[in-house]
Amino acid sequence: MPTIFTKIINGEIPCFKVAEDENFLAFLDINPNAKGHTLCIPKKEVDKILDLDEETYIGLMAFSRKVGKALQQTVACKRVGMSVIGLEVPHVHVHLIPLNNMKDITFQHKVSLSDKEFTDLAKAIGAKVE
Ligand code: AMP
Repeated sequence: MPTIFTKIINGEIPCFKVAEDENFLAFLDINPNAKGHTLCIPKKEVDKILDLDEETYIGLMAFSRKVGKALQQTVACKRVGMSVIGLEVPHVHVHLIPLNNMKDITFQHKVSLSDKEFTDLAKAIGAKVE
């Protein structure tokens, strides 16, 4: 059965898209740790990051770097943190999280945003992706 992220890639369920190229997609996390929390995924469906072929792994890191730099320019924060967990969705994803303190990376404090805030944020970050 395809993962929820494959369904997003295929347009079967919606997302707040930030950026996309032939092999990778970035979209806002629907239950963000902080405003601007973004997920970067390979379009190829693989569960664990260390099981990616080397080219896709390096490509995902390069794509995440580009999106992370755009995020850093868009959302005020001390730095953008990156983490890979995958306990909930078995489809490789890099979390890019604007950090101001340690709680922002704990996945225990969440922020809620309106659809308009998600839409505007995705557009603003996406506009800065080079
Ligand atoms: P994990 O697999 O533990 O790294 O976490 C999966 C992340 O995916 C969580 O932060 C969820 O909020 C996020 N997530 C799950 N479903 C969606 C969705 N449909 N759109 C955006 N983010 C999602």
